Amino acid sequence: MAETYQYVVIGNSAAGLQALRTLRKHDRDSSVAIIDREDHPAYSRVLTPYYVGGKTGRDNLFIVDRDYYRREKITTLFGCNVVALDADGHRLEMADGRQVTFGKLLLAIGAEARSLAVTSDRACTLRHMADAEKLEALMQNARSITAIGAGLVSLPLLSHAPESAEKHLVVGSNRIFSRVVDPEASAILEERFRKSGLQLHKQNDIVAIDEDERLQLTLASGGRLITDMLIIGKGVTPNTQLARDAGLRVHDGILVDDYCCTSHADIYAAGDAAECKDFVTGEPTIQGNWMTAVEQGENAALNMLGMTCAYEGSLKNNITEVFGVDIAAIGYCQDDASQTASTFDAGTGRYRKIFLNARRRVIGAVLIGETNDAGLYYQWIRTHSAFPGEQALHRTNTYASFLQRLA
Ligand SMILES: Cc1cc2nc3c(=O)[nH]c(=O)nc-3n(C[C@H](O)[C@H](O)[C@H](O)COP(=O)(O)OP(=O)(O)OC[C@H]3O[C@@H](n4cnc5c(N)ncnc54)[C@H](O)[C@@H]3O)c2cc1C
Repeated sequence: MAETYQYVVIGNSAAGLQALRTLRKHDRDSSVAIIDREDHPAYSRVLTPYYVGGKTGRDNLFIVDRDYYRREKITTLFGCNVVALDADGHRLEMADGRQVTFGKLLLAIGAEARSLAVTSDRACTLRHMADAEKLEALMQNARSITAIGAGLVSLPLLSHAPESAEKHLVVGSNRIFSRVVDPEASAILEERFRKSGLQLHKQNDIVAIDEDERLQLTLASGGRLITDMLIIGKGVTPNTQLARDAGLRVHDGILVDDYCCTSHADIYAAGDAAECKDFVTGEPTIQGNWMTAVEQGENAALNMLGMTCAYEGSLKNNITEVFGVDIAAIGYCQDDASQTASTFDAGTGRYRKIFLNARRRVIGAVLIGETNDAGLYYQWIRTHSAFPGEQALHRTNTYASFLQRLA
């Protein structure tokens, strides 16, 4: 016999947890269930590189504890893999044969890390807690660490690895963070990271792995790297199979409208699995960041509750610290923007680049070396603000001066 709930959320992470919080904020009585194939309370994937590198304990990754779900009267079906969705029958089937029926469903099922064609027991992606545990164990005795892929997984992991370890980064393209920042910023960061000991192997790939006591990586360039572990950071693939098999509209992600609703009126999607409007371009996109997942989880829940509420669109919003350098990339950060303005102080390493549309409205910003005013740039983009002029880029702390002007 199937268990029945008014609201079911699959995916106990950024989008799913925010959806639960929103459902319970407005509705204390309806029956709610959360399903996840991992058997943990919600945790921060963003913090896992710090845990892997020994900078924080595993317990600090958790956002809520198991008691949270009990207090909020949310049924937890953890360690349960949903294998089939019957959209019109409002029914889910789990790998162990259990069935759940729902009134409204949220697919907050995220994405999976892409792997390499060649692999080894000492190679691992980082997406789930089990990956973090494996990498943490491998890193403890590693004299040399190699990562492939120059994005928000490989670089933070190398950066938080023990200082004593030799660090190599194999990159397919001709620059690092190519999906995050503009080429000028990549060049500045490469120089900074090299000074911190990072050895870069650009326009390269790993074509074979041989193992004995250590790993021997054969590079596409013909070179060889002797290393102790390999971190695979080759991007992610959204989890769409469940939705595709159920007949929902899917492109790269599960397609949703401005209300985070899929092509089925009672099924919503949010976060890394969902393809939704970008705030700047209006194009369907998967932003792949924590804040977007939270915003969409909240929006989906409000609409599931019948509180018709349009989502204004997602924004790129990556704020991180790598090898001691603060970096923020917000909104549209590509050099084909109508206008750009930038400033770089080689002495302090402070770099700012602002991206404008044809009406000189701020649509994006890349900040290096000082990111405490990233929220201000975020607001400028969200409010379609006119660019206040290049002097804004030169202020040492734009946010502080903004507050002074308000006072
Ligand atoms: C190492 C790392 C570093 C990152 N750093 C940053 C950062 O600095 N800033 C930033 O903004 N973002 C960062 N991100 C990205 C951010 O973590 C994601 O954007 C965010 O986790 C997306 O949340 P989500 O809820 O959409 O999906 P996910 O976090 O992917 O969670 C989806 C959940 O659904 C479950 N699930 C999937 N399919 C099923 C199924 N069939 N049955 C049951 N359960 C299922 C999964 O087990 C998973 O728990 C990072 C990610 C990683 C991995």
